[in-house]
Amino acid sequence: MRTAVIADIHSNLEALQAVLARIEDLGADEIVCLGDIVGYNANPNECVDIIRSGNIKCVLGNHDVCAADLEEPDGFNPIARRAVLWTRAELTDENKLFLRSLPRELRVKDLFFFHGSIHDTNRYILYMSDAVDNFALLAGIGKLLRIGFFGHTHVRAVLSHSRGAVFVELSSDQWLAEENRYLINPGSVGQPRDGDPRASFLVYDADKRRVIFSRVEYDLHACQDKIIRAGLPSWLAERLVSGS
Ligand code: ZN
Repeated sequence: MRTAVIADIHSNLEALQAVLARIEDLGADEIVCLGDIVGYNANPNECVDIIRSGNIKCVLGNHDVCAADLEEPDGFNPIARRAVLWTRAELTDENKLFLRSLPRELRVKDLFFFHGSIHDTNRYILYMSDAVDNFALLAGIGKLLRIGFFGHTHVRAVLSHSRGAVFVELSSDQWLAEENRYLINPGSVGQPRDGDPRASFLVYDADKRRVIFSRVEYDLHACQDKIIRAGLPSWLAERLVSGS
């Protein structure tokens, strides 16, 4: 069983199309999205349409929550707030209803999928203490749950939990030890923040217990043009070049 895991698409249609084409080449039995289909970039409806029609399992992200009128973007910085309010005005009622129907967490056999932190869509897994908390929550949900996939930071990560200690592993292809627990971030499709502007995602091969990360180039300039033409803050176009 091969599961492609994508996250933080953020209305970047060009990046999403490039990633889905690569997943098609690589071959995957299912695709799971860790939320934030929308926000920041200029094609919210097109990206939601693709997730809806593509039979892609998805959880809610913090931008999705605000764009779908479920919460107000009170904790957002001014640029993120402007973009999410623009998104709210752009989204069709149908797509808002779809976003509202998404779960905050998803369990598929021994895999767990969520956006920010377990039981908290808005919170980041950034520090060791966050990882420790989330490993405890994962174990509390079910003994069989060995692997959790999260997004929200827009930065790849592989964290492992072994004999009571948490380790930061290299965020590169690797085999996962059967006796450990893992928290894994595939990086962001539509707004990477690790200095590499290419779209990021991963494929998890359950039979081999192997994680394979991928990066894909996409038509970044087309995405930038749309951001500017939509009247969204120009910093959102600039940051795509630096991957920041
Ligand atoms: Zn995000």
